[in-house]
Amino acid sequence: MEEKKHKSGFVSIIGNPNVGKSTLMNALVGKELSIITDKVQTTRHRILGIINGDDFQMVLSDTPGVIKPAYEMQNSMMNFVKEALVDADILVYLVSPEELELKDEVLFEKIKKTKGPLLILINKIDLITQEELEKSVAHWQNIFPQASVYPISALRGFFISELLNILIGILPNSPAYFPKDQLTDKPERFFVNEAIREMILKRYSKEIPYSVEVITEEFIENNKIIKIRSIIMVERETQKGIIIGHKGSALKRVGIGARKSLEKFFGKKIHLELYVKVSKNWRSSSEQLKRFGYNN
Ligand code: GDP
Ligand code: MG
Repeated sequence: MEEKKHKSGFVSIIGNPNVGKSTLMNALVGKELSIITDKVQTTRHRILGIINGDDFQMVLSDTPGVIKPAYEMQNSMMNFVKEALVDADILVYLVSPEELELKDEVLFEKIKKTKGPLLILINKIDLITQEELEKSVAHWQNIFPQASVYPISALRGFFISELLNILIGILPNSPAYFPKDQLTDKPERFFVNEAIREMILKRYSKEIPYSVEVITEEFIENNKIIKIRSIIMVERETQKGIIIGHKGSALKRVGIGARKSLEKFFGKKIHLELYVKVSKNWRSSSEQLKRFGYNN
């Protein structure tokens, strides 16, 4: 009897900010690996989500939204996107119904020339009429004749299991790239940092969320509890004051929210200590960016 071939490959999800890339990745993986907010630039890194089956392994990349870089960190964010494009066996280009093009023309042209399978997914179709949808499908099929265009809703779970089967169907024959019990390439501390950053994105307005980076200095796990100590880095003294709030009340709420989401993520009780430190201009200093993992 012929042995059944194993399939494995990299699937990159790219698109403009806020179209639902992280929501889609979480829906496909079935776990909240990527933080989601209604703010742009929520995702700063390339995050792998791995889906394992007996005869396949799909490695999904969630990427930062495509933007025109204005400072050093954003340059690095766009490098994560380009990397994901080069590594992809399958390219998933996610769009929202009203949009017509990618924010970076060079990248847009690259996608047009991509040789491998290309899926264009029109997301958030729960928000539009049938007529608008048909217009959007025609628009994208016209620009990318070689692509398969599918309407989906990542949030409502529409066409997600179908999509998963389509993707598995076109994975190349290959042995697995990662151990079959692995869910992501990122260490535990990364998810701690992200959970804290998600709370900050949700709780503070204006430039505060964009001036923040989180480092987890301690992550100690025993059978009952995980003890975590993390530092919230800001760029200015005034931002530190805002983050902490009156008698520490604002920071306390961030801690409570992050602890709850981490308890869900790790399935364990969490003890979380949070500190705030000022680190001037971390977004523009290469040295500092390396420390925060933007080192490419
Ligand atoms: P990303 O920046 O591309 O990663 O986008 P996110 O996944 O962070 O989602 C951006 C916003 O769009 C969030 O508020 C999501 O809840 C919302 N969103 C994502 N998918 C859908 C969808 O299918 N329908 C609707 N109505 N909203 C969605
Ligand atoms: Mg995202």
